[in-house]
Amino acid sequence: MFTSSVQPWTTTVPFSELSVSAGGLHHDQLVVKWVEAGEDRQVFLRDPILITAFRQSAPSDLTRELELTATAVRNMRKRQRMIWAVTAGIIGAIALLLWFGSDLLVEAAVDRIPVDWEHKLGDTAYRDFLAQHTVVKDGHAVAAVTEIAKRLTEQIPHSPYKFEVTVVKSDVVNAFALPGGYIVVFTGLLSKAESGEEVAGVLGHEINHVLLRHGLNRIVKQLGVVAATIVMGDQQGLAGLMKQLGVELFTLKFGRAQETEADVAGLRLLHRARIDPNGMIRFFERLAEQEKGRVEILSTHPMSDGRAARLKAETAALPRQASDPFSFDWKAVQASP
Ligand SMILES: [Zn+2]
Repeated sequence: MFTSSVQPWTTTVPFSELSVSAGGLHHDQLVVKWVEAGEDRQVFLRDPILITAFRQSAPSDLTRELELTATAVRNMRKRQRMIWAVTAGIIGAIALLLWFGSDLLVEAAVDRIPVDWEHKLGDTAYRDFLAQHTVVKDGHAVAAVTEIAKRLTEQIPHSPYKFEVTVVKSDVVNAFALPGGYIVVFTGLLSKAESGEEVAGVLGHEINHVLLRHGLNRIVKQLGVVAATIVMGDQQGLAGLMKQLGVELFTLKFGRAQETEADVAGLRLLHRARIDPNGMIRFFERLAEQEKGRVEILSTHPMSDGRAARLKAETAALPRQASDPFSFDWKAVQASP
């Protein structure tokens, strides 16, 4: 006899009239069914202890049916545990990835940004900037900067970027590069530099910020959540956000590791272009000294004492070669408006 006592209802049914199956929301319960007074009745057993007790007291003609049901219930529970374990595992892995591997995630996101987007992003910001500043269109300074840029970019024949360099009238001792290869050199940098080689050092550094996609890396890092969406394929959302961020591009500060990377790659570029690397070293040494006096110089490229020393060591490791001088007269460049 099977006695079901669900408050306030109690009934007693012979085992011979019962049928059993797996059921319930997750198919992990034992459903006991019978017909009473012409009506279908059913009870869901969920508690494993209750199910075991039921099986033990059931007569042998229900055994096979019960065993099949019990197996189905067990399998379902096992599957559910597995789903939970896998879900927990995935959540854990994502958390770990975000915690320890955010740089990897940023890299992956940056890798997925097509170069033509980068161009559009940089181009818009560049045109906006130039429209608000005094562009030096010709003269000795422009000729010199053009020659320096040409010497350097000739050494990057397969670059996806078409580098564009503009001289802008400003006392700020700086130059900056936007994603896509748009470079601005301020006249303040030209007056501070003592040779074309010094300017070439700064340009080599800037060009490598572009080639190494440091700007994009910074943007994606600042937009942690968006980084995840790009990885998942939503590139449309990023385009809009990056457009809104266009203004931020000029104030983008690079990390110390990025600065070192751009320095070293810039130095190698100078070497390939047969430009004397000592200009770059001298310039950085001077800047590091002046930085101690809290002069705002190359503000987007924080200087540190170690930079010039690092470049010296890198230079010593490169094969020695004779340098080719520039065709312009630096005194004339500095005298030009
Ligand atoms: Zn830099």
